[in-house]
Amino acid sequence: MSRPDRDVIVIGAGMGGIYAVHRLTRQGLSVLGIESAPEVGGVWYHNAYPGARVDLESHYYCYLFDDDLYREWRWSERYAAQPELLRYLKHVADRFDVRRHFRFRTSVVGARWNEDARRWVVETDAGDVVTGRFLVCTTGQLSKAREPRFPGLGTFRGRWVLTSHWPQDGVDLRGKKVGVIGTGSSGVQASTAIAAEAERLVVFQRTPNYSVPAHNRPADPVLHAELSRDLAAVRRKVAAAPAGNLTPGYVGRAADFSPKRRRELLDERWAFGGQPMLTLFSDQGTDLEANRIVGDYVRDKVREVVKDPVVAERLVPNAYPIGTRRLCVDTGYYEIFNQDNVTLADIRSDPIRRITPGGIETRDTSYDLDVIVFAIGFEAFTGALDGADIRNAAGELVSDRWRRGPQTYLGLMTAGFPNLFLITGPGSPSVLANMNVHNVQHLDFVGDLIDHARERGADRIEPTRQAQDEWTAHAAEVARPLIRRQVDNYMVHVNKDDGSRIFIPYGGGFHQYVRRCHAVAEAGFRGFDLR
Ligand code: NAP
Repeated sequence: MSRPDRDVIVIGAGMGGIYAVHRLTRQGLSVLGIESAPEVGGVWYHNAYPGARVDLESHYYCYLFDDDLYREWRWSERYAAQPELLRYLKHVADRFDVRRHFRFRTSVVGARWNEDARRWVVETDAGDVVTGRFLVCTTGQLSKAREPRFPGLGTFRGRWVLTSHWPQDGVDLRGKKVGVIGTGSSGVQASTAIAAEAERLVVFQRTPNYSVPAHNRPADPVLHAELSRDLAAVRRKVAAAPAGNLTPGYVGRAADFSPKRRRELLDERWAFGGQPMLTLFSDQGTDLEANRIVGDYVRDKVREVVKDPVVAERLVPNAYPIGTRRLCVDTGYYEIFNQDNVTLADIRSDPIRRITPGGIETRDTSYDLDVIVFAIGFEAFTGALDGADIRNAAGELVSDRWRRGPQTYLGLMTAGFPNLFLITGPGSPSVLANMNVHNVQHLDFVGDLIDHARERGADRIEPTRQAQDEWTAHAAEVARPLIRRQVDNYMVHVNKDDGSRIFIPYGGGFHQYVRRCHAVAEAGFRGFDLR
């Protein structure tokens, strides 16, 4: 039988794709990367909206696999902004010479598993067909934008844009009347930056989200030097950390502390800033009372910052417990509502009716706008896979098999789709973990698994049904106590027929996940059927 064109085809040149190509070529595999954008960067290429910035500290949200790379790159800020992150990813691509393995400006429009030839047959929009033994999807969990479907959008005379596909040549917002729809991480960051630039900003909020200050500042050279001294130890520690980074963790259960001490601890976390607000009390993710204590603290902060009490109450996040959706991390978000040029439109009580040639019409009000910014989220987890039309030998999409929720082994492979690797997919910690660390962990596992199979003369890898069922049951078990499983958002799959809820990422913590992956590898990659 002829050999496939490549050992591995990698889809996507974001953080995961860059490392995939580097890791897999380094172990001697022939690799072709395919990327629709003209450049590396993935989400950090496309999300070029004003204010876009990482919400984990840059000292940890970067590649840790290469000591010299880590030591030589100096972040300018504690939380790097999108342009710097993109410069970093280009630098990594150059340093490890991965670009030559990529076809840019090329989209995968179809991929089929050919069982007889044991290979993936991949079609691109350039009309090419290439074959690969393995298909590695580093397509991201939050990369396929949700389409804005608002009546009348086609009639709008101004310009409309998506935060997730911000025009690379920018959008001039100076002196413009701008509306931002959506108040998740993207909307919060974009609105904060746009408020400083636009003549008028209207923020259209359906659900008030929790946002905590980042306390961004210049990067700390002492911390960088400290971490650089022993990167092997840093790698060990992040692998043993619940979210794959070394920010402050749990201090104990909320009830272990007096109200006065709790307040001090909350003040300290608030002063630290960012996501660690979710890892203060060990029971705040599982106990509603512990959760309420942290939620109330943030709600009071909103009331302290926003001067108009009516606007403040609309912004107060009380629709769901804190941390059950992604926490927003901001740089002066609530403060913008004290500016004369900013209006909050509460579209829960006064819903959007339609978009008109001149702006947005709600049930009670009409907003005159030059630019509409959609920050309405993503077709999370399966959007990019479906977009590439990846089908097994029976012609099924992964999402056809996952109608009642994702089924995977280790969040990495799914039965019925041999040789397909879903990097940081459903059933892995995924969006709950530091993505750089997680990508590297997954791709190292994949590289080792391919080597292991080849040493045994195997070129077909598929998880067994039993391993998949056991993993899916285990993931459901660890998610059972989590309050966040009860709250609707992109991390929860709800079955319409019986209302059953499946928490999509692995909720047991990155540390537990890594431990289990090690155990699987040490047991000869138990649960994978090699042929
Ligand atoms: P998101 O969290 O899904 O938020 C989407 C927002 O749009 C929500 O406020 C949602 O309201 C609103 N929305 C959706 N459809 C709407 C409609 N038809 N009408 C009115 N409002 C609508 O999306 P995101 O902000 O892009 O963030 C997604 C994830 O990307 C984040 O959770 C985070 O993991 C990642 N992200 C990270 C960063 C960072 O690192 N700093 C930045 C951006 C994004 P409802 O809540 O009512 O549905």
